[in-house]
Amino acid sequence: MRTSKSTYAIIFSLLAGIFLFVFSGCSLELSDAGSADQADGKQQGKQLKVYFLDVGQGASQLLVTPSGKTMLIDAGNNDKEQKMLDYMKKYRIDKLDVVIGTHPDADHIGGLDKVIDHIPVGAIYMPKVQSNTKTFESLLISIKNKGLKVKTAKSGLSWDLDDQVHVDMLAPTGTYEDTNNMSAVVKVTYGQNSFLLTGDAEAESEKDMIASGANLQADVLLVGHHGSNSSTTAKFLKQVHPKYAVIQVGEGNSYGHPKPKVLDRLQQQGVEVYRNDKQGTVEVTSDGRSIHIATER
Ligand SMILES: [Zn+2]
Repeated sequence: MRTSKSTYAIIFSLLAGIFLFVFSGCSLELSDAGSADQADGKQQGKQLKVYFLDVGQGASQLLVTPSGKTMLIDAGNNDKEQKMLDYMKKYRIDKLDVVIGTHPDADHIGGLDKVIDHIPVGAIYMPKVQSNTKTFESLLISIKNKGLKVKTAKSGLSWDLDDQVHVDMLAPTGTYEDTNNMSAVVKVTYGQNSFLLTGDAEAESEKDMIASGANLQADVLLVGHHGSNSSTTAKFLKQVHPKYAVIQVGEGNSYGHPKPKVLDRLQQQGVEVYRNDKQGTVEVTSDGRSIHIATER
């Protein structure tokens, strides 16, 4: 009897073991399926953020991809250095995977030296243009101090900012006397949505971008050269065919930017226009299918 009791005990514990094994196997499968569903759900909610930062009369765009990769294009003028650092803090940017200085004008690269001093940078792109300004020199010093090597910004470059966000550099397509036309122009694509960020590129560069055969179509256009008459030609605007446009200008700027002719052209094409001088920072969100725009004021 004692023997048979212990035999039952052994059989019982064996059965219990098998039961536990099968059960835990099942629960593993269930939790796997559950997390796959969750991942799909998160995927749908994943967003690309493009901030057109209010830096007064100047330009700066900050991009944060669905997986948290970051890209900063320009950083406003010299007097916006602290403001730029405040923005980095506000948007919790502790590293910049890519930095682009579109061209050496102070209203674009002025704040870039301090950003590079304070935030780790993966790669930096600038067009092959020299400048003898203090602003440009102090940027080069910051770049050197961080041991970074400037990559030449030019058309034909492309890279994945993350596995779903693609960057194409569409300009400069050649060498120009005017530094504005040397502006690095990038198109950022996430799913069905795209952004064309044009620096201060003028008519000559716009013409060459059209001639290059690049697909210029974009949902959101950064209006070239702060809405100056030098840029946003009718032909270029027709090719880009944006739904939304952002103009980076300071309130009451001495240049009279944006120009009425450019605003008329945008209106005629039915483009919805956002402006830093009137609305503060413009925050554009894309889930890869649709675009949502929020403004600071
Ligand atoms: Zn500018």
